Amino acid sequence: MERTELADLGEFGLIDHLSKHVKISQPSTLKGIGDDAAVIDAGDHVKLVTTDMLVEGVHFDLSYVPLKHLGYKAAIANFSDIYAMNGKVEQITVNLALSNRFSLEAIEELYSGVLLACEIYGVDLVGGDTVSSNSGLMISITAIGRAAKEKVVYRDGAKDKELLVVTGDLGAAYMGLQILEREKAVFKSDPNIQPDLEGYDYILERQLKPEARKDMVELLEKLDVLPTSMIDVSDGLASEILHLCKSSNVGCSLFGEKIPIDPTVMTAADDFNLDPTTCALNGGEDYELLFTVKQADYDKLKGNPNFTFIGHMSEGGSPLLVTKEGQAVELIAQGWDAFLNKES
Ligand code: ADP
Ligand code: MG
Repeated sequence: MERTELADLGEFGLIDHLSKHVKISQPSTLKGIGDDAAVIDAGDHVKLVTTDMLVEGVHFDLSYVPLKHLGYKAAIANFSDIYAMNGKVEQITVNLALSNRFSLEAIEELYSGVLLACEIYGVDLVGGDTVSSNSGLMISITAIGRAAKEKVVYRDGAKDKELLVVTGDLGAAYMGLQILEREKAVFKSDPNIQPDLEGYDYILERQLKPEARKDMVELLEKLDVLPTSMIDVSDGLASEILHLCKSSNVGCSLFGEKIPIDPTVMTAADDFNLDPTTCALNGGEDYELLFTVKQADYDKLKGNPNFTFIGHMSEGGSPLLVTKEGQAVELIAQGWDAFLNKES
């Protein structure tokens, strides 16, 4: 029998393959695989369901990630997918796989991070599962949210000439990871050297204690702007734009110099000889929201420091990255593809 390597498919190729065999039979399943969360008819509103798993050694390294931060981030990553549907998070369940390397106190630390996120975002923890593991720690969280039927925003609603907008700034979480990895390498070579984390507060916080953009969902509502499509930026801007374009069957022009990048990310990228735009395009874990709006909504968002217009959608064709010099090149995603890159 033929053997296909997962590395040749990549994460998204694998999901495409698996989803071919999935049939939907329940009329209440309004959206299955293919968006940030599934959408389920609940009568006068819809329920939103999403799940994410983090695996030790693949998604996190406990030599520099405090357990409390890990718990917080695991919750945030799920909340973010509900906000990306323009929903409100209400409940989570938490699954843990633990080895005997961990003490009660350690797991209480982890849990305190999950509970802190729940408290801040107004979410109830309603269940889970706990099993043993031979190979380190795994934490998988499922989040359940709700939205008014007519307010759900999918990945597939973008249209020609609409404007592409992103919240906050990008690339910081990726730079934070570079700094933590660098200091780990230094520590390994000489444990007497203290980590040099001075001046990197913002980017370290973006990596270790990210937030989900509940505030932006609320702000869009207040400004009376309903995006036509939306996705959260968990794998890097380029990858997310490609998802929006593919789902919506449109192309786009992304203007590289418009991408919002914090000055501290510029400086840190310089230290590492990295191009900050590349970090923003291909780094991950920013948990910002990327969305499209009708041109008529431009005035409602313009000048607001929370939002940056970074491009516009076009009819079909490959998504393009337009450089400072005005040159258009095909937008590609190096991303964090699970089977190609160990950082995913
Ligand atoms: P996100 O980055 O927003 O969390 P993913 O890229 O992880 O989204 O997943 C994309 C879509 O594929 C989602 O709809 C998700 O539910 C679905 N998916 C991922 N893995 C599986 C799987 N093993 N079985 C079924 N659906 C999956
Ligand atoms: Mg997502």
